[in-house]
Amino acid sequence: MIALSLAEIAEVVGGQTHDIPDPSVQVTGPVVRDSREAVPGSLFVAFAGERVDGHDFAAGVVEAGAVAVLGTRPVGVPAIVVDDVQTALGALARHVVRRLGATLVGLTGSAGKTSTKDLIAQVLRRKAPTVFTPGSLNNEIGLPLTALSATEETRFLVLEMGARGIGHIRYLTELTPPRIGLVLNVGSAHIGEFGGREQIAQAKGELVEALPAEADGGTAILNADDPYVRAMASRTKAKVIFFGESGEADVRAENVRLTDTGQPAFRLHTPSGASDVTMRLYGEHHVSNALAAAAVAHELGMSADEIAVALSEAGSLSRWRMEVTERPDGVTVVNDAYNANPESMKAALRALAAMGKGRRTWAVLGKMAELGDEALAEHDAVGRLAVRLNVSKLVAVGGREAAWLQLGAYNEGSWGEESVHVSDAQAAVDLLRSELRPGDVVLVKASRSVGLESVAQALLETG
Ligand code: ATP
Ligand code: MG
Repeated sequence: MIALSLAEIAEVVGGQTHDIPDPSVQVTGPVVRDSREAVPGSLFVAFAGERVDGHDFAAGVVEAGAVAVLGTRPVGVPAIVVDDVQTALGALARHVVRRLGATLVGLTGSAGKTSTKDLIAQVLRRKAPTVFTPGSLNNEIGLPLTALSATEETRFLVLEMGARGIGHIRYLTELTPPRIGLVLNVGSAHIGEFGGREQIAQAKGELVEALPAEADGGTAILNADDPYVRAMASRTKAKVIFFGESGEADVRAENVRLTDTGQPAFRLHTPSGASDVTMRLYGEHHVSNALAAAAVAHELGMSADEIAVALSEAGSLSRWRMEVTERPDGVTVVNDAYNANPESMKAALRALAAMGKGRRTWAVLGKMAELGDEALAEHDAVGRLAVRLNVSKLVAVGGREAAWLQLGAYNEGSWGEESVHVSDAQAAVDLLRSELRPGDVVLVKASRSVGLESVAQALLETG
């Protein structure tokens, strides 16, 4: 982070200093919330959680070299005491990003934020030092912590922004105001909590409402293929760049196909030229993510050739997202157990079908959470798609939703052993261990709460 004195930090967050002999001592970073990450120069942010209270670790972090604690009460070691730690952290992030010489890129959407953020980072960092959200830390705590990890050298700061309700994105944009705002899609993730797609669009669109006007450099990057996102063009004063597969998009893909190995390939068109991309990532949904990343990179001055090379070489930076591993016996395990929603389930099934040409394919699927009233229909549709794509075997894992998956498959024409319903991950592992044959391809995918990565891991351990 940018070095700041304890006196300056206390002023920025409106806090009281306690047990600080020399307020001119500087925090050089990182700012950490996990006491185990404290190193010399750190500021430790003490959150009082339900089970653990960060304040209890204050002495330990100072011993590890941390300069001070930011918390809600004096702790006997140097501390800045505030009423609310989250608010203070946000104020500090806002203060620091103003002093950075970096361009801020914010992105949101229902699915693919982390995948796209990782792509953007891998493209931009070829041009200049880039800091980006680690993993999926996209909320009111992860976002300021990421922003605070930027330094004087940072030129691009790429921030994933998550929303679970109206006002969430607006709050995040107030902490770290982006110059470039990207909205990927409005899907059905968290639809139960939001109440409907209109509400989701309302919430995600707060990102483009917060952008500066075009004259001040604001740029909204919007998915032309998603009607809810396209409509957000009327909610911003920023310049609008569209990406998508539709012919009118400014940044678009032509001749999109999946290679024999299931990896997307296409010709990338940007306003400054065209170039061919063959991705290392799996799944056609990455075409949309790649176009989004290309639009950001184009806006930041990169040529179509530079972008195409970077996209073709980009790997997955975050785990359990279409992680493809081949066992010594030739069984391929595709671990996409990080999360699932209807869009990503369907994309993953299509990737499985492409990868599995001439091979037996298994879809080991669990529930897609938080779908509200759409849950039954969406699970049914996924079960049906598995059959239409000729997936050899559907293994539905878990309770009611898994039954809906299997029923969808059954009603689409699968019967007997082509689709099975098992109660839990262990039962799925037992079944697969006894039935997998060399050359088979197994996709494992469900919502985060199901924890199906244990299936993928068990299959790889015994391989
Ligand atoms: P979260 O809300 O958990 O942070 P996210 O928006 O960051 O999710 P990712 O982690 O990138 O999304 O991907 C989540 C799931 O969605 C993965 O299984 C991935 O394969 C799939 N996915 C990625 N990109 C897309 C896309 N453009 N459309 C649909 N599904 C996608
Ligand atoms: Mg994410």
